[in-house]
Amino acid sequence: MWIIDRSGQQVRSFSGTEIDLLERYANDDLVGKSVELANAILRRVRQDNQWLRCSCQKPNPVMHIALLDSGRFVLRNNPGGNDHEQRCAFGRSIKRGGSHVDARVKVKRYDLGIVISPHSEYRDGDGNSSPESTDKRISPGGVRHPTLSLILTLLDDAGLNTYDPANRLKLGEQFQRIRDAANRYSLANGVPLSSAMDTVINKPRLIALGKRLLANTAKGVRPVGFLLDRVDSIASRAVHPAEGNPVEFLGHVERFGDNDEPLLAMATVTPARKHSRFFDLGHVATVPVVSRYHLFPVTSEVERLVVIEVIKLTNWLGSKQVAVTLQKPLFAGDGSPDLILKSRKKTLGLYIGTAADMPDVKAKGGIVMPETGDLQPAKNQIIAFFMRED
Ligand SMILES: [Zn+2]
Repeated sequence: MWIIDRSGQQVRSFSGTEIDLLERYANDDLVGKSVELANAILRRVRQDNQWLRCSCQKPNPVMHIALLDSGRFVLRNNPGGNDHEQRCAFGRSIKRGGSHVDARVKVKRYDLGIVISPHSEYRDGDGNSSPESTDKRISPGGVRHPTLSLILTLLDDAGLNTYDPANRLKLGEQFQRIRDAANRYSLANGVPLSSAMDTVINKPRLIALGKRLLANTAKGVRPVGFLLDRVDSIASRAVHPAEGNPVEFLGHVERFGDNDEPLLAMATVTPARKHSRFFDLGHVATVPVVSRYHLFPVTSEVERLVVIEVIKLTNWLGSKQVAVTLQKPLFAGDGSPDLILKSRKKTLGLYIGTAADMPDVKAKGGIVMPETGDLQPAKNQIIAFFMRED
């Protein structure tokens, strides 16, 4: 087994001891210090943005390392890669794990005019509680996962879940679109969301936003605002921004899909105590995005890898004068496609998973994008679908 970079170049091979350790980790056959050793290896590979190439089979299967909410690292096959040999410990552990996530059922789209209130008012005599000590994740406005619902609503309104090869946006333009979308919403106390929000997460901006919130919020009402930014991870009760120092938070985390960075995060900003002038980060919502420069939302590393391939395909189709856009539905219910390709006249649904598990996709006129195995046949089907004259 080797560590490789994202272009497929070999970084280094593992020693026999390391392979033995990782195989036993995959088999769930480690205890105590050995678990920490295996974790350290996987954490390092993941932090360095690298993948693993398994030598069980030729051509070699390629895997990435995902971080579960429980804090456990797991191996997953890259979509479009080759399958493992039947007896391979890594292949077997991946099969046991399963990986498809549909986070969309948990979230709700905010309508214009809805009351956005991710934190309840302080209770009387409740001088020193942290923001919602209970873990119900239902906001006073009645929306489950309110902060996550809000960041997804803004991404949807900003059109950042649509990729149009003819209109590629720079990072600054993507953030501007999010700020423009925020103009349309108001917080519970009537303050426009745009004036209660900032698109950088760090301590000085947190303090500055807190001052503005105090000035703009009516007496007796809990001041609440939001910070949004790209983050590397959420760990040890702190948000770790892509640039700058970690900032601690006091509330809970609401995740869209997996914890696979790069992530876009939105955190509430509010004082933990009544009458306090000190603001903290409260709840944090995270959404995996395609890259640090492309805020197109995805649910997992597997979906990210498929999206990167499909984006290349739409660019290529564009160069052939076939205009096709890629869209990620954020709020649709169960059974809707993971991704949608659209030309002026035609629509094609993409479903990420295993063909055998999704027998009804063909009947729906969609295409299965395999989590493992070769992506090329699916890509050829997409090309044929949009290039065909009809
Ligand atoms: Zn293998």
